[in-house]
Amino acid sequence: MSNQYIYTFGNGSAEGKGSMKELLGGKGANLAEMSSLGLPVPPGFTITTDVCRYYYANSKTAPKDLDKQIKTALAWVEKQVGKTFGSTEKPLLVSVRSGAPASMPGMMDTILNLGLNEETVEALAKQSGNARFAWDSYRRFIQMYSNVVLDLDHSHFEELLDEKKNEIGKHEDTDLTAEDWQEVVSRYKSLVQKESGKPFPSEPMDQLRQAVEAVFRSWNNRRAITYRRLHDISDEMGTAVNVQAMVFGNMGEDCATGVVFTRNPSTGEKVLYGEYLINAQGEDVVAGIRTPQPLINGDGSMESKMPKVFKQLLDTCKKLEGHYRDLQDIEFTVEQEKLWMLQTRNGKRSAPAAVKIAVDLVKEKILKPEEALLRVEPETLDQLLHPQLDPSVKLEILTNGLPASPGAACGKIVFTAEEAESQAKKNEKVILVRLETSPEDIQGMHSSVGILTARGGMTSHAAVVARGMGKPCICGAGELQINHKENSLTVRGITLKQGDIITINGSTGEVIRGDVPTITPTLSPEFLQLMEWADKYRRMGVRANAETPLDAETARKFGAMGIGLCRTEHMFFDKERITAMRAWIVTEDVTIRQAMLDMLLPYQLDDFTQLFTIMKGLPVTIRLLDPPLHEFLPVTEADRKEVAALAKVSPDYVLHRCHALEEQNPMLGHRGCRLGITYPELYEMQLRAIFTAAIRVSKKLGETVIPEIMIPLVMMPEELKHLKAMATRIAEEIFAKEGKKLDYLFGAMIELPAAALMADELSEYSDFFSFGTNDLTQTTLGVSRDDAGKFLEEYRKLGLIEQDPFVSVDQSRVGKLMQMAVKSSRGVKAKIKLGICGEQAGNPRTIHFCETSGLDYVSCSPYRVPVARLAAAQATLTGGVKQLANAA
Ligand code: PEP
Ligand code: MG
Repeated sequence: MSNQYIYTFGNGSAEGKGSMKELLGGKGANLAEMSSLGLPVPPGFTITTDVCRYYYANSKTAPKDLDKQIKTALAWVEKQVGKTFGSTEKPLLVSVRSGAPASMPGMMDTILNLGLNEETVEALAKQSGNARFAWDSYRRFIQMYSNVVLDLDHSHFEELLDEKKNEIGKHEDTDLTAEDWQEVVSRYKSLVQKESGKPFPSEPMDQLRQAVEAVFRSWNNRRAITYRRLHDISDEMGTAVNVQAMVFGNMGEDCATGVVFTRNPSTGEKVLYGEYLINAQGEDVVAGIRTPQPLINGDGSMESKMPKVFKQLLDTCKKLEGHYRDLQDIEFTVEQEKLWMLQTRNGKRSAPAAVKIAVDLVKEKILKPEEALLRVEPETLDQLLHPQLDPSVKLEILTNGLPASPGAACGKIVFTAEEAESQAKKNEKVILVRLETSPEDIQGMHSSVGILTARGGMTSHAAVVARGMGKPCICGAGELQINHKENSLTVRGITLKQGDIITINGSTGEVIRGDVPTITPTLSPEFLQLMEWADKYRRMGVRANAETPLDAETARKFGAMGIGLCRTEHMFFDKERITAMRAWIVTEDVTIRQAMLDMLLPYQLDDFTQLFTIMKGLPVTIRLLDPPLHEFLPVTEADRKEVAALAKVSPDYVLHRCHALEEQNPMLGHRGCRLGITYPELYEMQLRAIFTAAIRVSKKLGETVIPEIMIPLVMMPEELKHLKAMATRIAEEIFAKEGKKLDYLFGAMIELPAAALMADELSEYSDFFSFGTNDLTQTTLGVSRDDAGKFLEEYRKLGLIEQDPFVSVDQSRVGKLMQMAVKSSRGVKAKIKLGICGEQAGNPRTIHFCETSGLDYVSCSPYRVPVARLAAAQATLTGGVKQLANAA
């Protein structure tokens, strides 16, 4: 740890810079950077994250030298602004704000107007010529300080304020006079004395020391911890503390405060987007207490009310966006017509906006395509592919609010975050309806499919957090009257209770009664452009797991370059087929068995014909039947009767066979290629269907169709040798029958540790391998894929595992086996094609691992294909395979 605990900034210079986020936090680093750019930043200093880490490592004590360094830095700030901390003539007031290396909006604490006491408040009144403002500032300070440092609840103070307002018959804060505020201050102080047993601290340096420590403590408050868990942020990082000379947006009508995004963070459109409030402090905008005005367009806009400062803001936005080469989310204050920049950061944005902005920045020659590809979080693409409200449906609009986060959702109304959480545990879809949200609601917001608030603007807490989560959100639906006692809401004369269903359209701001059907969205030109770049830069192929024509079409639409896994068992569940399949399983009469397979063959032929036709020459990997036979058996008596009739046996006999086929441990039982070896006629039927369909489609389309035959659950080379001989024999038979030969690939799934261990020997019989990481995870870890949920989540919460191994490949165990198999198989057959088709194949982290492990392709569910294409491109661009080469 360095001895420099503090970095100053302001007045066109800074000790730190933008790249020092780890040490100065995002806010501190950007304040330094803005200051060096010559932008108007109120002078201040950042206490480093090192100090926060020291604080936690040393029983919550600060390093010895810190106090001295704070005093030196304060003296520097005093000199810059010509004011003195604690002075009774020209007092310097400061803000104390948290600022971690990773953005955690609203999760930690802030204190404004620090340095006020009975003397300095008078000085501030005199100096500003505005006693009302001075006393209002003091009461705000007491309230924030008491909450953050002394842990007293906001509501106590709000009650006192309401009491005062009632006494004098006034409603708005703006109606209170200097004397009223002075009286409120005095009541606040009595409250502090009563609640904490101590007077409210008056010595400014004392206030500052306590405030800094409280910000460190807020790193570990409940909502910050929850936020870090939800966003995969390390607990070790710690927060920096920014102490900065106060500038006031609430000194009068020539003052204001606001938030501006350099582009629209919901749509990505290149227009300034934001809100401001005249005569207000920043917290008023964020908390949604007063509804802010737009920056542009309209009478109340900043553009029309403060044209000169607005122009300066516009220029600053351009400069900042150009400098950071990304959408900026900026906080500013205007004090007596002077613009001050309080913060800039890369703005959070919706998924459609992320794609549009990345692509637009390339068009504007600010970014290269390779850089644009790294700007979009692959997981967020999911949102672009999911359904929106069906526009042909007539909507019963209850009310309108601000379209704060796009997308549509439908669910039961709940009024508290706790209720949202408890309903979500029961798999209910809920819409969280609140007056306004606060950071305490974060878990409840996470549990909801959508969020609706009566108050607050587009940059309120609810809006920012929902956009980050990618959930639809409507804010400021002012007509909503929420009755917490009754658990109901009333709007335009209609009352809805908890549990009633509403739909919200976060893209338009409409709140709709009932359940509205949805449709799949069309893909924007920017999305298609980004995907085109992804395809250009990625090394690995991306295929889809698909067996139905619909899935295959979807996979093609989303850009899959083939099918990497067709699970043929899914093809047997149609009504006509399942009875024949069941009859084949239960009967022991060879003639009937053959007759049943003869019935099934045309179905399979048709299935494969459709798949090959849709995929038009792209590779199609067909896995022969995998699951234990008992999964197909009839459960109801009626079904058993039907099977009995077709198999020409008695229903009792069917029941007896069902019992006989039951297994203790079916996942490790009579399944996978064990079926093909013990019931060869089944695999033979499938092979005949595959080869016949492939030849016929290739004749018809004039395209080469190259089927890939995949054998599941292989545990030893002998199995593969045996089945390869079968495939060769059937291929020859069909080639002779159809009068045409065809190339095909034969390969195995690596989904048992035994297979991974013998990959070199298996490769002798294989043109390709596909890692079945679902089974490979369950068999490597000894964790059942169907029961893991019961304890893995607990493991994750306890920090024993980072991620569910069925979501993202467990790299140190399952991944190790995969890498062993890659190395040993390539040692024997350098060109063997290697892929992955377990569910993890659509997970960006796993995709990165596959890239570094040198796999040739990933295969995931059709809706994950775009995510995988982008993640694969990112993995290549960030040097995946290069890393492998370096390590070798
Ligand atoms: C696997 O085990 O990873 C796999 C893809 O096969 P299934 O999920 O069908 O068992
Ligand atoms: Mg499997």
